[in-house]
Amino acid sequence: MGYEKLLERAYSQLPGKAEYKGRFQVPEPKVLIIGDKTIIQNFSQICDVIHRDPKIVSKWFAKELAIPVHIGEKGELILTGRFSSRILSKLLQKFVDQYVICPTCKGPDTELIRLDRRVWILKCHVCGAETPVPPL
Ligand SMILES: [Zn+2]
Repeated sequence: MGYEKLLERAYSQLPGKAEYKGRFQVPEPKVLIIGDKTIIQNFSQICDVIHRDPKIVSKWFAKELAIPVHIGEKGELILTGRFSSRILSKLLQKFVDQYVICPTCKGPDTELIRLDRRVWILKCHVCGAETPVPPL
């Protein structure tokens, strides 16, 4: 009885702050290698989850891997060259860290605003922070 009371008190004293705990799950890219091309089959679903324009995300991969990429008929991303799912998943995570997650509150509820070609801002819908990010 005494123990239960203590336990109850301990739980009620846990911080109930609404700070984002970084549980945002980035989907794993489903990767298929055909010849000298690598295809991210679930590319459009990934872009839906992270709320980013597939064109922007495809640019990121093109820039980071220094290769031509294009988006296929079914929304898949087609990369020139052979890349492991491990590398692509890391790059995707890097994109999310830089262009999706708010550096102030660590939440994913953000919007990418392109003021012009050289000025991009990550605007957070939760804490209101506006963070400049490198344009793609
Ligand atoms: Zn924020």
